[in-house]
Amino acid sequence: MTKRIVVATGNSHKVQELSEILRRCGLGDVELIPMSAVVGPMEIEEDGQTFQDNAHLKAMAVFNATGLATLADDSGLCIDVLGGDPGVRSARYAGLGASDADNRAAVRQAMANKGASSSPARFVCVLCYVDPMRTLFTVGESPGRIDTDDRGQGGFGYDPMFTPDGFEMRYAEMHPEEKNAISHRGRAAERMADLLIALESDQQQSTVSGLTLEDLCRASIASALGLQPVIKSLAQRAQDAQQQLRLTEVLLQSYLFAGFPSALDALATAHAAGGSSSESDQVETYHADLFEARGQMLCKEVYGSVYEKMMARFEAISPSMRSWMIIEGYGKTLSRGGLSTRERELCIVSILAALGRSSQLYSHVRGALAVGATEDDLEMCQNAVVELCGRNAYELLNSTVRAVVSKAP
Ligand code: IMP
Repeated sequence: MTKRIVVATGNSHKVQELSEILRRCGLGDVELIPMSAVVGPMEIEEDGQTFQDNAHLKAMAVFNATGLATLADDSGLCIDVLGGDPGVRSARYAGLGASDADNRAAVRQAMANKGASSSPARFVCVLCYVDPMRTLFTVGESPGRIDTDDRGQGGFGYDPMFTPDGFEMRYAEMHPEEKNAISHRGRAAERMADLLIALESDQQQSTVSGLTLEDLCRASIASALGLQPVIKSLAQRAQDAQQQLRLTEVLLQSYLFAGFPSALDALATAHAAGGSSSESDQVETYHADLFEARGQMLCKEVYGSVYEKMMARFEAISPSMRSWMIIEGYGKTLSRGGLSTRERELCIVSILAALGRSSQLYSHVRGALAVGATEDDLEMCQNAVVELCGRNAYELLNSTVRAVVSKAP
């Protein structure tokens, strides 16, 4: 049976482009319909702080109005020398109602103010799919360079200023098919196609939707990056006390790697969405000696033969940090029940990849393998990472896994 998905955009070109990509990826029985075919004109205010927020806002507005499965996108250009601007304001960098040429002129001026005529930059696209059961996000990125002069006649927006990595031509000089094959939208759409295909086969097997280990890795990344809509959708799927406990544990431990503010925000979102309750959060009496003993045992298990060397290194850098790591980290937090050590390590790996922490990532990939994770488990982390963080974080994790595996005895 053909599945119909409404696309939350007034741009028929986007509907056409997404349809082609989904068909090419094997989703032939999905029909994308423009929102104009099911609802009248809608004003959706895109006032989110992130691409994720805006894609979610658009998808939810149309989903709430129609009750039909909905796909929305948000995209923009992030320029290094401008600290990530124009970002979510790409369409209105020169003000509301600005033309593409006005926006390019505003970028040119902002770069001139920084004394730059060229800068590394990337296009980012986030797709959000919403249906009555779930919310899915994918991210696609296209890294490259922005130059302040214009070249080429094709494309739209900032295309005349953007040269993708590995090419000499600007986007505006490329054939549309050539651009689509490497574009941020193309990449996000390919990942969304993979998720929708997996969803279809799940539904065919009529499996109960609960939280998988991959979902827990997603929750860890979402906590670290502040992706509240992702937390909310995962929390809504935590169906029973056991799943709520597991989600709570994952978010609690994220404070160690992403800080209290991120973990608190994530816990608050999960709590409001019914995926974390105070019953699923057991406070252990603080007992430093017990935590120290427990922490040492667990840390030895994770670090194996390099444990002593690593402790000596930490002691030399900061004895306080060494002691907190054992007592607070391994003893108080990572030794708690609710999740296996393998599951905890895989969630940690996901966060470290998302944050681009390469040296700690190396240690925890090795740690995950030491406590029973398989290469398939690490591939699952890579899926969560590519979905929520894009290509760079994925490549960091992938190359780290290969480096660790090649050195394994
Ligand atoms: P939206 O996702 O349709 O809201 O697009 C945001 C803005 O980002 C557009 O108006 C363009 O200025 C810019 N943009 C997004 N994708 C591209 C692209 O592929 N080429 C050039 N500009 C883009």
